[in-house]
Amino acid sequence: MTANTTKTTRIYLSSPHMSGRELEYVQDAFATNWIAPLGPHVDAFEREMAAAVGAGHAAALSSGTAAIHLALLLAGVESGDDVIVSTLTFSASVNPIIYCGAKPVFIDSEYESWNMNPALLADELDSRARAGRLPKAVMVVHLYGQSADLDPIVAACQRHGVTLIEDAAEALGATYRGRSPGTIGTMGVYSFNGNKVITTSGGGMLVSDDADLIARARKLATQAREPAPHYEHAEIGYNYRLSNVLAAIGRGQLEVLEERVTARQRNAAYYQAALSDTPGIAIQPEASWGTHARWLTCITIDPAEFGADREHVRLALEAQNIESRPVWKPMHLQPVFAEYESVGGDVAADLFEHGLCLPSGSNLCESDLERVVTIIRESVGLG
Ligand SMILES: *Cc1c(COP(=O)(O)O)cnc(C)c1O
Repeated sequence: MTANTTKTTRIYLSSPHMSGRELEYVQDAFATNWIAPLGPHVDAFEREMAAAVGAGHAAALSSGTAAIHLALLLAGVESGDDVIVSTLTFSASVNPIIYCGAKPVFIDSEYESWNMNPALLADELDSRARAGRLPKAVMVVHLYGQSADLDPIVAACQRHGVTLIEDAAEALGATYRGRSPGTIGTMGVYSFNGNKVITTSGGGMLVSDDADLIARARKLATQAREPAPHYEHAEIGYNYRLSNVLAAIGRGQLEVLEERVTARQRNAAYYQAALSDTPGIAIQPEASWGTHARWLTCITIDPAEFGADREHVRLALEAQNIESRPVWKPMHLQPVFAEYESVGGDVAADLFEHGLCLPSGSNLCESDLERVVTIIRESVGLG
């Protein structure tokens, strides 16, 4: 047998990429015995993250999902309320709505950014206002590293006094008219899961310009302890704080955020150039309002023009030990959310049917990207 080295090293969609500095901070956490869900690295990570995205305040939490849950609670979402949310997203955007006993209402995407269609949202809020059934909150998701078109979304929410929460779990490093998505609504959420732009292995951050909201988030995340020498509780709390050890990793990662984003944008530029003359393949567009951080580079495949569908391409890559993934299956098509209302959904369904996320890690080299492109083209006999 001949060893096939190109086949033996698996290429992942997005794998952790440490800088080396993380370990120094972790060693400090050990040396000072701050092995706890609080400590100096948690405080510093919160300050540094708030500064990096331009938010007033930040609370470090155990996951992005925990941050979304707390944001909903802080927005006053209660049992029986409606929460409007993008349908094209990961289930973690929606599960916390159910934790609150509330009902998601899904909104379709627009092709320009793949994110929430602002006109559909505005119409839905206007008609709900007339019917006296406004939602308690709107949660807009910034997919794959690209901001949604926030100005009209903010305007529609403000017109009706509805709290806007931004799920920016995938969009750290992106911009919207020069600002960071996640800092423009009332609250924003970031994730440091293992496959995100930067990682703490698991973790999240809730940001806001409202100091009271972030203080409330910290309290709820620490079992809702009242200020008293004994354990006093006046409301239900959660155990959602980030470990000081993981915050130490986050500080090291934050120092290289710009480099990581640049590397991902280089991946996208490579794919764009190398696939530009391949019929039926298009890269997720970069909208006019900001910089796409390219957490993942996603393509759409038109089977009529390309000669095969996205599943054919995915399997061809997998056969060569390369991970790729279909674009998120929209929430209105998920069996678990089938009973909830959806406003449109055909654009999201179309992006799911034709969309594929390509290997996009900041630690990929050009020969990895070249392999991916070659396999995509060879899957339909193109040289
Ligand atoms: C990753 C992700 C989350 C959840 O973050 P965790 O830290 O994994 O809990 C939420 N929303 C979106 C869109 C995500 O991609």
